[in-house]
Amino acid sequence: MRVLRPTDSSLVGELAVTPSRDVPERVARARSVQEGWVSLTPKDRERRLRGLVKALETRAPEIEETIVAETGKPRAEAIAEMVAVADLIRYYLKNATGFLRPRRRETGWLLWKRARVLHEPLGVIGVISPWNYPFLLSMNPVVTALFAGNGAVLKPSEYAPYCGLLVEELTRDAGLPDGLVQVIVGGGETGEALVRSGVDKLFFTGGSGTGRRVLEAAAATLTPVVLELGGKDAAIVLEDADLERAARGIVWGAFQNAGQTCLSVERVFVMEEVYDVFLREVLAQVRELSTGTGRGVDVGPMTTPEQLLKVEELLEDAVGRGAVVLAGGERADPASNVLLPTVLTGLDSSARVLQEETFGPLLPITPVKDAHEAIERANETAYGLSASIWTGDRRRGEELAGKIRAGGVCVNDVIAHYGVPGLPFGGIGESGFGRSKGPEGLAELTRTRSVLVDWLGMAREPWWYPYSRRTEALLRAALAWRLKGGVRGLVAAIAVVAGKRRG
Ligand code: NDP
Repeated sequence: MRVLRPTDSSLVGELAVTPSRDVPERVARARSVQEGWVSLTPKDRERRLRGLVKALETRAPEIEETIVAETGKPRAEAIAEMVAVADLIRYYLKNATGFLRPRRRETGWLLWKRARVLHEPLGVIGVISPWNYPFLLSMNPVVTALFAGNGAVLKPSEYAPYCGLLVEELTRDAGLPDGLVQVIVGGGETGEALVRSGVDKLFFTGGSGTGRRVLEAAAATLTPVVLELGGKDAAIVLEDADLERAARGIVWGAFQNAGQTCLSVERVFVMEEVYDVFLREVLAQVRELSTGTGRGVDVGPMTTPEQLLKVEELLEDAVGRGAVVLAGGERADPASNVLLPTVLTGLDSSARVLQEETFGPLLPITPVKDAHEAIERANETAYGLSASIWTGDRRRGEELAGKIRAGGVCVNDVIAHYGVPGLPFGGIGESGFGRSKGPEGLAELTRTRSVLVDWLGMAREPWWYPYSRRTEALLRAALAWRLKGGVRGLVAAIAVVAGKRRG
């Protein structure tokens, strides 16, 4: 497999593809190592995982080079990937043991029982990651799997396998058991082999179409999956927003990583009364962006030639339906894979750019008459990953956030919620299901076990054989108690039992 630099198509390196028939064996090896890993207490595992921070620190320059080489993204964005990884590791170092601690649960009317819930590792987690954040989106699910006591087998994108291989090397540098994390190299076929390999859960990040194929393949073995899929995120700019901040945030949200972010701003809905001023602010911001493939640019190349062509197709479709290009709209030069940051207005609602995930540097801006219309427009796609609301009234922002169909919403910010390690992240609808990060993300990669212990030791429980009038009376009393609840319920229950005695 040849890996090329998006900046000049030069060779990053060549790798042997892992044969699909070898994948189950790799999973089995991870499983045998995981058995030792799971026998450690969460505290012991945490101590070992601390080594990941040091390993990351040592290898940071190499990781940065590899991300830049494989994706062509600006260096600042490569560093940001590492910040998010380091932050998640720190967060779980501090909190994972607490999250995984057995918890007492209420026993309802069964007062003579004790109930606890345990979080146990699943076994081996299969991770399939995309090329747009090849280090972050490989490392975060693997790190979470490890904190939860699992092993992991990772299949990184064929466009960025070296970033994936670094994940395995980091775990080795950290002193984690050899084979606990393994990386397999290859394209879609290798990914499918991983889905069918008998992993205990699959954590997939990628496009919605591929996600659907993964789900179909996983159905054959009833393998549970987390699907982190695409988005079509809307930004809503209200009339009272700080328009300069909103424009800055939205321009960054739309064009960072050349728009190749699942959480990119892909649609903007602005109140009519501030539309002209907002548009002027956006265009002023866009004019200041530097583009190209050199060091220090703001907007770099598209990572894959296929993606560039897809974005150009959506642009052509929009223009064909009457959209006006106010900035960009073409490549930096015809031979380059840098598409200039493009601002579109006058969009027909049938334009594909308003429905399909763009995953490129196109920013369609549409005026709307009020917040109600903005919410309606924001909710009109099948995706539901995230959204942003820009307003001077934070309370109103939070209120409107509750009306948006999305897994996450920012008020007066954009994309930043992904950067908060304690916030669960994930989508709804075409954007997938399941959560990563936070306690929810850790729980996602565990199995809950419910344990009930009887502490009273009666000769028999009231509902055991033989059934009698007494059994019925006791269950009637329980029903009266649970229906009425509290002291009134208890009184009702006693009345039922007393009535029976009298009877
Ligand atoms: P793809 O869906 O094309 O690929 C994702 C991964 O799946 C890659 O490793 C790919 O391998 C692999 N794959 C391809 N076919 C199969 C298959 N049949 N079975 C199993 N695995 C397969 O996505 P991209 O890499 O193009 O990434 C972009 C997409 O990812 C966008 O839609 C974006 O929105 C989404 N994404 C979602 C995020 C989220 O958290 N919600 C975050 C980031 C991106 P290969 O690359 O080798 O073909």
